[in-house]
Amino acid sequence: MKIIDRLREDGIHISFEIFPPKTDAGYDKVIRAAEEMAGLKPEFISVTYGAGGGTSKNTAKIASYIKHDLHVESLAHLTCASSTKDEVRSVIASLKEQGIENILALRGDISEDMVFPSEDRFHYAYQLVEEIRRHGDFCIGAACYPEGHVENEHKEDDIKYLKQKVDSGVDFLTTQMFFDNDIHYNFLYRIREAGITVPVLPGIMPITSARQMKRSCELSGTVFPRRFQAILDRFGDSPKAMEQAGIAYATDQIIDLLANGVKNIHIYSMNRPEVAAAIMHNISEIIQC
Ligand code: FAD
Repeated sequence: MKIIDRLREDGIHISFEIFPPKTDAGYDKVIRAAEEMAGLKPEFISVTYGAGGGTSKNTAKIASYIKHDLHVESLAHLTCASSTKDEVRSVIASLKEQGIENILALRGDISEDMVFPSEDRFHYAYQLVEEIRRHGDFCIGAACYPEGHVENEHKEDDIKYLKQKVDSGVDFLTTQMFFDNDIHYNFLYRIREAGITVPVLPGIMPITSARQMKRSCELSGTVFPRRFQAILDRFGDSPKAMEQAGIAYATDQIIDLLANGVKNIHIYSMNRPEVAAAIMHNISEIIQC
């Protein structure tokens, strides 16, 4: 089923995320995590592509397992910067062959050792969206950045390019993680004003260790509010306390979003079903309202 059809339905829709293993040895562990997450009955589980340390070759396989064996809808991420156009086309064909209906279309990060830009590659996600559209009837999601994308000095440019991306055929957006909901509300206001009307899924990352916070900062350039910094200063050296506080913080963000009328929320559950389960437990009554 297409995710956009689910998002349009009444009720609250919570989704999770899995990243593929770095090596084949880790495959079974990831599958077990997906199975446990499926048991929490999310709207869908997304599977990253070469992100979070995972390799891209297993993305389609895991997304297919989630959809066909666990009977939970899946969203396969696909990036284009690190592959040639032909390689990207063959991944799209393979996703189609495996019955995957939903793709999150991304450019991917540019590393110093990459030949980029280059003639044989798509340079921006909007070009990938156009290419996926040419291949058939997929539901297409894309990324957006409430605090602005790190490569863009001006937020207005970010929104202008986001509009171009959405107009090229995007059905819904998922945000980069953020830790201050006001930043999200302000972003929503600005993109709606710019004529971007597709559903936006806020991406909530439960930060459960100091190391994870440092890595998240490096990857996304996100701002950590003083309230979160205080939690880290006080509990950062006590892993169990930090995990509990991180789950509580993410829960608090989610409750505030739901209270303010947000219906769809993506949790960056990062192969940690126990973290996803704790959050679902914390909001079990709330999502029935
Ligand atoms: P784009 O939309 O192409 O934007 C990239 C930059 O180019 C932005 O600064 C944008 O403003 C600018 N730009 C866009 N169009 C134009 C234009 N026409 N002219 C000039 N400038 C333009 N990475 C992975 O490797 N694997 C994953 O699975 C993954 N999943 C992600 C999921 C989410 C929800 C998010 C938010 C990010 C994810 N990422 C992933 C990271 C993502 O690949 C990076 O943030 C990347 O740097 C940008 O990707 P994009 O698709 O947003 O690119």
